[in-house]
Amino acid sequence: TAALGRAMSGALMMADMLKGPRDLLTLQIDGDGPLQGLVVTADNHGHVKGYVKNPSVILPPNAQGHLNVGGGIGRGTLTVIRDMNLKDPYIGQIPLVTGEIAEDLTAYYAQSEQIPSSVGLGVLMNRENTVRRAGGFVVQLMPFADEDVIRQLEENIRGISSVTAILEEESTPEHLLGTVLKGFDLQVTSVEDVCFQCNCSRERFERGLLLLGKDELESMIADGKDVELTCQFCNSVYTFSPEDIRTVLGNLSVS
Ligand code: ZN
Repeated sequence: TAALGRAMSGALMMADMLKGPRDLLTLQIDGDGPLQGLVVTADNHGHVKGYVKNPSVILPPNAQGHLNVGGGIGRGTLTVIRDMNLKDPYIGQIPLVTGEIAEDLTAYYAQSEQIPSSVGLGVLMNRENTVRRAGGFVVQLMPFADEDVIRQLEENIRGISSVTAILEEESTPEHLLGTVLKGFDLQVTSVEDVCFQCNCSRERFERGLLLLGKDELESMIADGKDVELTCQFCNSVYTFSPEDIRTVLGNLSVS
């Protein structure tokens, strides 16, 4: 939950910087830890979806007493995919720094996009392991930023013990930014609600079935059993009877 919440918060902020209305940003983390990695996709309308490959992971807290996201992720790579509806998506990849996700996104901006940035992410849990609050910040330097500005920012960020501590005080983005940008003339220029949203549909899964090819579909029909497909993002289940698969196969022959 902590890994997914951090990744979804980060992806939402990164996607908000996309320009096109149909652009998508995907974070893919492949790690050798027990979570086996995660995938998160967000658009710039505040929608996000994601999943961890193995969600049944419980680890003891790390040395700082925090949720051990880095231990769950392990060592591996972070891939950032920006799909801007061009022929090919823009893909950047770096080795994971800590697997704690915020540090990895900070490193991604430095290494892959040469933008000095600071990313902070946090998921505040309730005792019964539900999420109370989740959020974070992305702060980036404009080119030719003043030395004094940089010094002040670094001091502010050093003074933050954890994002969850700020979320615990008050959960508004304005409060979070006010803490990170203390001493600066902060102006809020736009506000957007965010939510989990999956865009899966039966049609989408039919197209997925088509990709299996004629032979595979025919053997599924011959089996005579219903096929259940589960969306990894939202756990919706789509059931296809042999008759349904025959219809899908019919579409294959037509096209
Ligand atoms: Zn779905």
